[in-house]
Amino acid sequence: MHQDDLRVIWFCGECGTSFVFWSDVEDHKEKEGHLKISKYDLAAYMDMDVDLGMERI
Ligand SMILES: [Zn+2]
Repeated sequence: MHQDDLRVIWFCGECGTSFVFWSDVEDHKEKEGHLKISKYDLAAYMDMDVDLGMERI
């Protein structure tokens, strides 16, 4: 496991896919050729008002 696994989340800026594991990012770069990957702190991401399809009270 990568040291940042479970603490950060990565987003592909080209297709919008999110990744929890760095190995998936590496895979994605290799298979899709997408290189604009941004990294977010997982705790901060959870606090963001992101619409994940769940109703917020
Ligand atoms: Zn992508």
